Order: sequence, then structure tokens, then C-alpha cells
Amino acid sequence: MIHLEGIHKSYYMGKQAIPVLKGITLDIFRNDYVALMGPSGSGKSTLMNILGCLDSPTMGKYILNGQDVSKMEDDDLATVRNKEIGFVFQQFNLLPRLTAAENVALPLVYAGVPKKQRIEMALEVLNRVGLADRSHHKPNELSGGQCQRVAIARALVNNPTLILADEPTGNLDSKTSVEIMAIFDKIQAGGNTVILVTHEEDIAQHAHRIVRLRDGLIETDRVNVRQPAPAMH
Ligand code: ADP
Ligand code: MG
Repeated sequence: MIHLEGIHKSYYMGKQAIPVLKGITLDIFRNDYVALMGPSGSGKSTLMNILGCLDSPTMGKYILNGQDVSKMEDDDLATVRNKEIGFVFQQFNLLPRLTAAENVALPLVYAGVPKKQRIEMALEVLNRVGLADRSHHKPNELSGGQCQRVAIARALVNNPTLILADEPTGNLDSKTSVEIMAIFDKIQAGGNTVILVTHEEDIAQHAHRIVRLRDGLIETDRVNVRQPAPAMH
């Protein structure tokens, strides 16, 4: 599903290039469940932003679902992002003046879906994350965990194949974190590919594969042996 080859990313301070990613080569397969770990500043968010087509690499190749997105212009990149990717952030990034349902429906506004259908689709995904009864609430009337559920519902509403989450439990207490991880587990079990950044080993243990970054390079990439194999039917 994802093929990264020799991905470099530098940020520019004036004329000075600051290298952050220094040659990332990585394949991610359909329905993979990956935890991306590593010290603060190792480049996790930079890599996630590139994977999510929010930013472009300075150098290197990124193939997503057979398309070379590293060569795309901003408009085409936005189309890929809207169709194929759902992104969940640590800070939820909800619009405070909109209700839960309106926040969830926002990507559908950009996609040109008619209003009646937008509301139906928003309610359907809110139901999937267990928040159907909070659809009319605004973010400040919801707990942190509920806000993150709304953000997950918004990431799912366009039916993307790839779900990216950058420290999705970073602002939540441990009990709420477990509830949020149960939702990611369900999303992955339903067929999506999930990549999440976390600092916490307990959270990473939900994933089937753990990739560790250090100083802009992949340090290790291992199957999570502690993750029980899915039951056979
Ligand atoms: P992580 O998510 O692993 O903590 P980041 O990808 O956020 O790491 O950051 C990696 C490095 O890049 C850090 O040194 C950070 O200061 C730097 N960095 C991140 N974003 C920018 C930016 N927009 N401009 C300049 N430097 C940045
Ligand atoms: Mg980060």
C-alpha cells in the first residue's frame, strides 16, 4: 500500500537546511497495524505528515496505492488526502463553533456531498465510535476522550483506506486511552490500514508491527510478538 524509498526531509531556516529525515525506506502493507515510536525530535510527526500528504519530502519516493505522490502538485495531493487518508491529531483539531456532527461532516462539505446525505453519514460514523447521543454537542461540552472520538469519526467519514494518528492518546488519561485504542483496534480489524505514533509501550502493544525512529532514520522495524494472532474462523 505504501512504499517509501530514501525519504529525506529538511526544514529551512533562512538558507540553512536542517535535515530531519535522513533516508527512510519503508513498506507498509494493506491492513497493517503499525506503531511508530522513537524519542522526541526523531522525526515521527514529520514522517506522519509526509505519509498523510500534508507535507512533501525534500527527496525520495512515496508511492501510495500505486500512485507516486512524491511528484504530485498541491491540488492533486489534496485530492489523494481527502479520498484515501484519515488523520487524527493529539490536539483533536475540532472546530469549536461546530457541533460534533458538523465537525464530522466537514470533509464531506469539501467533497461536495449534499447536506442531507452528509448528516446521515456523520451520524453513522458517530454511531461507530459510540457517540451517536452526542451529535449536537459542541467540543467544549465534550470530554477529551469524546472529542477524540469525534475526531476519529471525522477521519473515517470519507471512508479512507489509511488511518494515521499522531499521538492520539497523548492528551488522555490511561483509562480513556484504552477506550480510544479499542476503537483503533476495531478500525484495523474492519480492514483499514492504521499507523499511529505513540510514546507509550502499552499503546504500541496494540499494533502488530513496531517501527522505531532515531535521529531521522529507522532504528528497528519488528513484528510485535506480544500481539496475539487474530482468531481463525
Ligand atoms: P517528533 O514528532 O519525533 O517529536 P518532529 O518530526 O516533530 O519529531 O520534529 C523533528 C525535528 O524537526 C525537530 O528537531 C523539530 O524541531 C524539527 N521541526 C519540526 N517541524 C519543523 C518546522 N516546521 N520547521 C522547522 N523545524 C521543524
Ligand atoms: Mg511529534
